[in-house]
Formats: sequence, structure tokens, C-alpha cells
Amino acid sequence: MRIGVLALQGAFREHVATLAAIGVEGVEVRLPEDLVDVSGLVLPGGESTTMRRLIRRWGLAGPILDLAQSGAPIFGTCAGMIILSKAIAGGEEPVLPLLDVVVERNAFGRQLDSFEADLEVPILGERPVHAVFIRAPIVEAVGPGVDVLARLDDGRIVAVREANVIATAFHPELAGETRFHRLVATMAAEHADPAEGAGRRPHPLRRARAGA
Ligand code: GLN
Repeated sequence: MRIGVLALQGAFREHVATLAAIGVEGVEVRLPEDLVDVSGLVLPGGESTTMRRLIRRWGLAGPILDLAQSGAPIFGTCAGMIILSKAIAGGEEPVLPLLDVVVERNAFGRQLDSFEADLEVPILGERPVHAVFIRAPIVEAVGPGVDVLARLDDGRIVAVREANVIATAFHPELAGETRFHRLVATMAAEHADPAEGAGRRPHPLRRARAGA
């Protein structure tokens, strides 16, 4: 099972390293054919305007949307969250409209270009997530199918999930945080082996009884 990391621009190496740290092979994706053998995809932070342009230039939008449609997990951080949003405040065209959210780019203004915060993320367990925000977006509104995974103390939404698509306004890969990647890897493994858990293997107790 391999997970792609969109490697057009931005902080993709850190995601490949985070995947390696949990024993998962990350594949740098630059062209549609790089997606052939992946069971999930990470969209890194960087500059969404540049990423938007390169996604279009290399014909990646269709193949990434197909991968998402197949049920493979897609995980976007920061600029990656912007790329995945169905609406961008100010009216920029969406790029890969997979998440029913409205995002605002650079939502923290100049005086707070970057900051760090410890966030509660209940689906990842009790230990807080140390979140690094760099010229980060914020989620202004979420549709009915979207789960909110984390908020700042003031209530603003900074991590979401809609079915197989997850996005964070912050950078877990810059803080040594591996739990989002572990979650994505688990989802990718299930996607790669859909029969897993479907009763394909003989039940150990039933087998024992049958042999008795
Ligand atoms: N400010 C960037 C954008 O709007 C995102 C920053 C980041 O990914 N760290 O695209």
C-alpha cells in the first residue's frame, strides 16, 4: 500500500518523511501516471495559487477527483485544504471541490502570520495535537455532511472530514505529529483491501469447533 503526496510545490517532503516515520511508502506525485498505484493522496501546504496553476498544467484534477470518487482517502493541509474546498471566500474558483466547506485564505492577517496551538482532536485520542499554523486558512462554514474535527479556543474550525476527505488548516507534518497520517494510512489500507473484515478468513473459534 502506497500513499501519494502531491509534489508540485510546497511542503511535500515533510509529508513523505512523516509517512516514512510510520512505515508507509510515500510516492511523489507530479503527473497523472504517478497516481496509478496509490491508495490515498496527501495535498501539502504551500501556495494554493501556484498549486492551482500546476494542477491545471499537468492535467491532475480529473485523475485526483477519480481517486477521491473511488473512496481513497485524500488529506489536505493548509494550502491543500484550500485546494479541496468547494468555496473560497472572495470568489476564487474552486480547484478540487471535494469538501463542502467555505474557506478563507490567510485568515489570520499579517500580525499573526504564523502561530502554534495545542488542539483537542477527539478522533485522534486524548493527547492534544500540537498545530503549526503558517499563513493559514480558516473554515468559515461547513455543509451538513462535514464533521468538524478541531476548533481553536475561540470556536473557529481548523480541521474537518467529509467521508474520505480530511483537511487541516495547520501543518501536522511540521510538528512531528503522525496521528493524522496514521488515520489516512488506515483508511488507505482499507481502500486497498476492501474485503478486509468481510468474513473472508475462517473464524478461529468456529474452525476449532468444526475440528472437534
Ligand atoms: N497562504 C497560503 C495560501 O493561501 C497557504 C499557506 C500554507 O499552506 N502554509 O495558499
